[in-house]
Amino acid sequence: MTAKIHEFLEGMKDAGHTTPKKCYLCQPDQNTDTLIKLNNKLFKPYLKEEQILAAIEKMAAEIAKDYKDETPLFVGVLNGAFMFVADFLKAYQHPCQVSFVRLSSYQGLTSTGIVETLLDVQEDMEGKSVIILEDVVDTGRTLKQLVHLFSQTNVKEFKIAALFYKSEIYNGEYAIDYVGLEIPDNFIVGYGLDYNEMGRNLREVYQLNQADMINLVLFGKPGAGKGTQAGFLKEKYNLKHISTGDVFRYNIKNGTELGKLAKSYIDKGDLVPDEVTIDMLKDEVEKNPEASGFIFDGFPRTAAQAEALDNFLESKDMMVNATIALEADDEVLIARLLERGKSSGRSDDQDESKIRNRFEEYNEKTAPLKAYYEKQGKFHSVNGIGDIVEITERLGKVIDTLD
Ligand code: AMP
Repeated sequence: MTAKIHEFLEGMKDAGHTTPKKCYLCQPDQNTDTLIKLNNKLFKPYLKEEQILAAIEKMAAEIAKDYKDETPLFVGVLNGAFMFVADFLKAYQHPCQVSFVRLSSYQGLTSTGIVETLLDVQEDMEGKSVIILEDVVDTGRTLKQLVHLFSQTNVKEFKIAALFYKSEIYNGEYAIDYVGLEIPDNFIVGYGLDYNEMGRNLREVYQLNQADMINLVLFGKPGAGKGTQAGFLKEKYNLKHISTGDVFRYNIKNGTELGKLAKSYIDKGDLVPDEVTIDMLKDEVEKNPEASGFIFDGFPRTAAQAEALDNFLESKDMMVNATIALEADDEVLIARLLERGKSSGRSDDQDESKIRNRFEEYNEKTAPLKAYYEKQGKFHSVNGIGDIVEITERLGKVIDTLD
């Protein structure tokens, strides 16, 4: 259809008419460095169509080497793999069958990683070699569900072929038998992959443009108002709020292993060990690949955490833009925390000696981070005493003047 319209436009040109500069049926600015916008977010070109098709040809040749003498069943994982499956089958010219399965992972439940099967595979698969065609393998949660699904069938063999493979974040639970392209952990869209259901029709792959991201560290002693202010700032600047304290409390409430471990430290007002906290923070960032930026609340709290955060963000082409401290006197903070403890139920807010221990931890381990961020020219200080709205405005002034 598109070709016919192009033919028609070419015909008009021959007849002396001018053709539009860009046909609206074409993909926007393919093969250029131009950004595209999907649901108000900017994406930049990442993989060209030729690169993707070459990777698929290579995969098809590898799989043909292993399976051309039998009739494998290829199972595409909807929705993302529809383009991959189509191009793969065009490249795989040997006897085969094809089917699809549809899984959906729920964003709101990413912490538990629940993936629900929406459509089961219908074919009788007894004795067949099944090869899953998956568009992208990242954490491995979807794969787990697929393996579970097929382990209940009597297939002869079960293999996994992933067009895009994010080796950095894959949990490594199952072998990936065939890989198209190994890619870093950036949010990608196009060639079947979507951002909020947009962009699936793009012929090339784009990645989120991180340049306009804002990542903030909210700094300050317990009770300084970091959580309260983060709640306002995340709305105003469309940021994802990550409070390590909240994540720990969520885990304690749900009785997870992480919660059990953290509880022993939190109850005393001590810091949870760096190793555990850093991994948890990375996980939280990774659960939100499409975020326009983050507010880190209660992290980093030690030099090791600050360095780990810088290295981690750099690996994702991101950075901390500013660290903003909310300043308040100890005595004001103690009064606030004891008051909060009456309603929050937090044991670490109810006992003055625990609160003082948290302050000591802060003075010893967290306060030195001021110098760390000052050296980077990123440290800002804001008066944390006064009306909540006024404090939000003070923070906004700092954020609005960031480059
Ligand atoms: P918060 O809600 O930020 O006051 O955190 C409550 C408790 O969780 C702290 O007193 C620590 O025991 C633990 N915690 C939160 N964030 C961190 C962190 N970045 N490093 C170590 N421990 C933390």
